[in-house]
Amino acid sequence: MADVTLRVVSKMFGRGRRAVSAVDRVTLEVADREFVVLLGPSGCGKTTTLRIVAGLESPTGGSVSIGGRVVDDVSPKDRDVALVFQSFALYPHMTVAANLGFGLKMRGTPKVEINRRVSDVADMLGIADLLDRRPDGLSGGQQQRVALGRAVIRRPAVYLFDEPLANLDAPLRVQMRQKIKRMHREFGMTAIYVTHDQQEAMSLADRIAVMRNGRIEQIGRPQEVYRRPANRFVAGFVGSPPMSFLDVRIRRSGGEVSVLLGDCCWPLPKGMADGLAGGSDEPLVMGVRPESVRLSFENNDEGRLLPMQVEMVELVGDRCDVHGRLPTGQLLVARAGAADGIEEGAHVWAIFDMDGVTFFERSECGRNVMPEVVGAGERVS
Ligand code: ADP
Ligand code: MG
Repeated sequence: MADVTLRVVSKMFGRGRRAVSAVDRVTLEVADREFVVLLGPSGCGKTTTLRIVAGLESPTGGSVSIGGRVVDDVSPKDRDVALVFQSFALYPHMTVAANLGFGLKMRGTPKVEINRRVSDVADMLGIADLLDRRPDGLSGGQQQRVALGRAVIRRPAVYLFDEPLANLDAPLRVQMRQKIKRMHREFGMTAIYVTHDQQEAMSLADRIAVMRNGRIEQIGRPQEVYRRPANRFVAGFVGSPPMSFLDVRIRRSGGEVSVLLGDCCWPLPKGMADGLAGGSDEPLVMGVRPESVRLSFENNDEGRLLPMQVEMVELVGDRCDVHGRLPTGQLLVARAGAADGIEEGAHVWAIFDMDGVTFFERSECGRNVMPEVVGAGERVS
């Protein structure tokens, strides 16, 4: 079993007024064979968290366990973890096969076993036909695959990835994502994977931990984090283009709960209304994803459709993202078909698919007020 547990882990760099809090009371349980992604903007503490698990950085508070054993006093090389960075050099004078097998050889692994593992890893990464070449004869992507193979061939208990694909171009990143997914499946690896790329996180993770300022803001399965973000930060960070935020008011009268926005008013579905606590005329922020906005050229549902002026249309294959402005001055992004004929400058009407919206407090931290939201630290299984 190679589960990883961080208990209230903190890390301060420096002292006194110069002190920087890089990791702030992070609690995280990664199950055996689970792939957890730490997602967050640059400087939020992802690398430091990973280095603490690897033992390369000692926490100023809290404790780390691997496989049920507290490893706070265990040196990095005895933790049985592999750390994969975004840039790592290959040995230029060795063949690909020798590069892959080098770490095993240094550990005295029998030659037959080394050959078997080199061939397994090479197959999995699609570099089997390159084994006799030297690094300078390989493309950047091929080199990256060899480097990845070299890091994982040891089959450690825990794999730690720190933005390993950040230097690759987009098609190669997608290809490498698939390789890593496959390795996860076939090796049954326990992994913590750091990235600032929400798409990468969505595609790789069993669970995503979204970080900000050294803290975990939310942990959950990709769909949960996407559909039920714990706060406005998570909502804005996950999803592209990001969720739109609209200032609304909630009106309650005679058992009906309605949402008010500008001159429009529409009822909330019963299930959602029940979940929203609070009084009448409550100011909230409604969060709506582009795919939950429908646009039409006609106002065929008086009082429920919002007029919107289209400011920008971004084509994404067969769909387009329509960026528009409401009479209240607020911005709204909708997804439409590329063939729908929506053009910049057009006046259209917007309506929401209420199952796809969520509500936040108007305060600075913008907590989600819908009850199903699973917050930081809670485990969903
Ligand atoms: P991320 O990987 O999410 O970009 P890091 O973990 O590298 O974030 O950094 C978190 C914070 O800690 C940042 O403010 C960074 O400047 C600071 N930090 C990281 N390493 C050190 C260090 N060795 N000394 C001082 N501050 C550091
Ligand atoms: Mg980093």
